[in-house]
Amino acid sequence: MAGLLHGDRIGNWIDGRRVDPANGEWLESVDPSVGKAWIRVPGGDAQDVDHAVAAAKAAFSGSWRSMPATQRAGLLRAAAVEIGKHAEELATIECRDNGKPLAEAIAGDLPSVVEMMNYWAGAADKIHGETIEIGPTSHNFVRHEPLGVVGIIVPWNSPLAILAAKVGAALAAGNCVVLKPAEQAAASILTIAACFDAAGFPHGVVNVVSGLGEVVGDALVRHPDVRKIAMTGSTETARRISERAAPTLKQLAFELGGKSPNIVFADADLELAVPGASTSAVFTGGAGQTCVAGSRLLVHASIYDDFLERVERHVAKHVRLGNALDRQTTMGPIAFAAQYEKVKSYVELGRKEGAEIAFGGRFGPENFDGREEAEALAGGYFVSPTLFRGATNDMRVCREEIFGPVTCAIPFHDDDEALAIANDTHYGLAAGVWTRDLKRAHRFVRDLEAGAVWVNAYRRIHWAAPFGGYKESGYGRDSGLESLRGYQQTKTAWIDLS
Ligand code: NAD
Repeated sequence: MAGLLHGDRIGNWIDGRRVDPANGEWLESVDPSVGKAWIRVPGGDAQDVDHAVAAAKAAFSGSWRSMPATQRAGLLRAAAVEIGKHAEELATIECRDNGKPLAEAIAGDLPSVVEMMNYWAGAADKIHGETIEIGPTSHNFVRHEPLGVVGIIVPWNSPLAILAAKVGAALAAGNCVVLKPAEQAAASILTIAACFDAAGFPHGVVNVVSGLGEVVGDALVRHPDVRKIAMTGSTETARRISERAAPTLKQLAFELGGKSPNIVFADADLELAVPGASTSAVFTGGAGQTCVAGSRLLVHASIYDDFLERVERHVAKHVRLGNALDRQTTMGPIAFAAQYEKVKSYVELGRKEGAEIAFGGRFGPENFDGREEAEALAGGYFVSPTLFRGATNDMRVCREEIFGPVTCAIPFHDDDEALAIANDTHYGLAAGVWTRDLKRAHRFVRDLEAGAVWVNAYRRIHWAAPFGGYKESGYGRDSGLESLRGYQQTKTAWIDLS
């Protein structure tokens, strides 16, 4: 099968064609496993955004808006097939770009991207209106119509999976899209765009413009013909977008950061809770670079020391740092140099604030002493799984999102204290609860201020289940039929029968 990526650079995807950025500028994307540039992606600007939005607008009012829903569903199904054919190549591109372990992307991310397209294909022709009984003199009915052109802004940690949830819903609802990948890991999204046109989508329905957030992202946010921005990224960026979207009164949906509590009670089944806490997205493949990372590990004081020792043993046995493309690797590097420096500075800060490193705290080549591939990985952005013990919730390392394989273990003494600590954060994305007590489990599901609560599990995410945040972790939902409404507007029609 012919590959999708050719050469050492990949252009924007606009109106069904691969195009160079209008300003001729390119950005180098670095392979974080080795710290070397591997591909160039467009460093585009507002001219490319104008071009892409015009293409999307023309496609919307051309064939897309009036296309029968069943045909739209068929195209989404065909896109699933097309993406499935190229899954391994897409996974390899993404992992080279952002350091996520290839084995994880092949087993998890790409199959879920395919399933999301199928899920949204299933929804596309089940969009129903309703009639409302006003009285005999009026026939009143409600239509759920697409918005038009939607801008989708994606971060670097899991570009394809995050994109698929939004783009599937947006297309199923009948919108055209302009996608803006993160400048640090744009290649997989630039590549996947061609799969939609290959599947038979009219040109211009799916477009991608790559470039800096403050340039391309900003132009998309301010564009008067873009009716909605759906963004996953940091809370800080979302604030900026909110201000700049105000003049055009755009609809907004944000999936943002987190500082999620993972709470282990003394009655927990430790056979489950130890791996659960160890792999609560902090010490897994993406090296803690995931929004739902259980980065505050709350442990009942009576089992605190024992539990942390068990977590250390589990991590030592199961986590293997290495090149993302090596299938033995279970934890990759930090995605890019600036983020690596940020994680380092937080580890330093934690020490200064008085937390003690229980394990980890090793950076770069220190992680590969004595290993055969040490030289090859010397320039990579590796951080060992790091656990702070003796942390308190007022420390900055417990309040700010680190976005690396660093977790803070905080002791608690009773349920009320656990709940108070868990909710004492301006974030509200996710939470985990480990207990055998059903009443306690229900109480915490009810009282935790988070968009997702897992009981005796962590990081279960599915395209059919709504996903999103409370508080400063955002608003709007990805996944599940609820998210479809976010890409529609409601029209009420009145036919006079008097
Ligand atoms: P970021 O906010 O820096 O960037 C996200 C995207 O926004 C990128 O494409 C970037 O180019 C773009 N952007 C930046 N400035 C912009 C501007 N002024 N206007 C428009 N677009 C702009 O976030 P990041 O560092 O790439 O990603 C990490 C963050 O994403 C973390 O906070 C993490 O928790 C969050 N995240 C959330 C979820 C979720 O589903 N809740 C999932 C993954 C990541």
